[in-house]
Amino acid sequence: MSELRKDLVSGRWVIIATERSKRPDDFRPQGPVTPAPHGGFCPFCEGNEAKTPPEAYALRDTGTRPDSPGWSVRVVPNKFPALTPGPPPPRATEGVYQSMEGRGVHEVVIENPDHAVELGDLPVPHVRSVLAVFQQRIRTIEQDLNYQYVQVFKNKGKEAGASLSHPHSQIVATPIIPRRVKEEIYGGDRLFRTFKECGFCRILREEEAAGTRLVARNTHFTAFAPYASRFPFEMAIYPRRHSAFFTEVRDEDLTHLADLLKDVLTRLKETVGDPPFNMVLHQAPNPALPLKGWPDIHLKSHWHLEIIPILTKVAGFEWGTGFYINPVPPETGARFLRGEA
Ligand SMILES: [Zn+2]
Ligand SMILES: [Zn+2]
Ligand SMILES: [Zn+2]
Repeated sequence: MSELRKDLVSGRWVIIATERSKRPDDFRPQGPVTPAPHGGFCPFCEGNEAKTPPEAYALRDTGTRPDSPGWSVRVVPNKFPALTPGPPPPRATEGVYQSMEGRGVHEVVIENPDHAVELGDLPVPHVRSVLAVFQQRIRTIEQDLNYQYVQVFKNKGKEAGASLSHPHSQIVATPIIPRRVKEEIYGGDRLFRTFKECGFCRILREEEAAGTRLVARNTHFTAFAPYASRFPFEMAIYPRRHSAFFTEVRDEDLTHLADLLKDVLTRLKETVGDPPFNMVLHQAPNPALPLKGWPDIHLKSHWHLEIIPILTKVAGFEWGTGFYINPVPPETGARFLRGEA
C-alpha cells in the first residue's frame, strides 16, 4: 500500500507509491521511444478483458457479460493503483511529520474498444458516453464520505504521463482535498467577495465580451484560452450556466459538452499536430461532506475542464518560483485554434 506524506512547510501531500517501487536503473533515459509494434499486446483492447482487474462499470451491449467483449466504455481498477480502497486512514506521526495510509480509489476509464481511435476522434454520442461514465463514477465514489475529492483526468501521450497508448482517462479519489483544488476554492471565495458573484461566471462574461481568447462555444459551454495561460494553447471549458458540480450537468446538456470537447480536441490536433496533453476536471469537493467553513461553496466554485498541451518543459525557474514562462500569448494561441491565423 502507498503512503500519503504531508510536507511540513508547504502543507502539500505527496503519494509515496510503494506498489510502483522502482530501482534507479528504471529511471535511466531510454532514448527515443519506438511505438509498440502493430498487434503488440494491449490489456485495454477488446478481447483482452481478462488481463485487467474485474470491471467496476461498463456500458455494454445487452446480453453481454462483465469482463467480456461487447462494451463501448469500460471502467476497471488501476492494476498499479496510487491509492487503494479501504477504511478511513488515521493520521500517523513520525517525529514532526504527518502521514497516512494511501487510501482512495484509482480507476481507469477505457474510452473505447478501438486502440487507434482517440477521444477527440470518436463520434459525439460516444464522447458523450465517456462523459456520462465520468458522472456515474463520481456519483458512486462520492457516496463514500471518506473520499473528499474525485479527480478525473486524462494523460494523452507518453510525455503527458500515459503509460499505455490505448485511449483512456483516469479517476483518483483522495481522502483529503488536494492543494490545487483548495487554491481554486480559496480563489473562488476571494473573487466572490470582490465581485459579489461567482468569479468564474464573471471571467466567462469577460471572455465572451472580449472575444480575443475565445476558441469555440455553443449554447451551453464556452472554450477559451485563459488570460494568464501557463502553457501554449492551454484551454479551459466552462459551463455557461453556473454550476459547482460536474455531476449536475443534465443529460440533455451533456451532448453539447461532448460536441464542444470534440471540437476543441480536433482544433488542437489540427493546429499543433496531435500534441501530448493533459486534461483535468476541476469541481467542488464531495457535496456529501459537511464542508465546515465553506457553506457557500456551491455558489463560489464553478466546475471546468482544463486542457494543457505538453509543448514546453517545466524547468528550474518554474520549480524555483511557481512562475510559468509561456512563449505563445493566449490571444495568438486562440486565433490559431479558431483557424484564423
Ligand atoms: Zn489497446
Ligand atoms: Zn459560476
Ligand atoms: Zn481549475
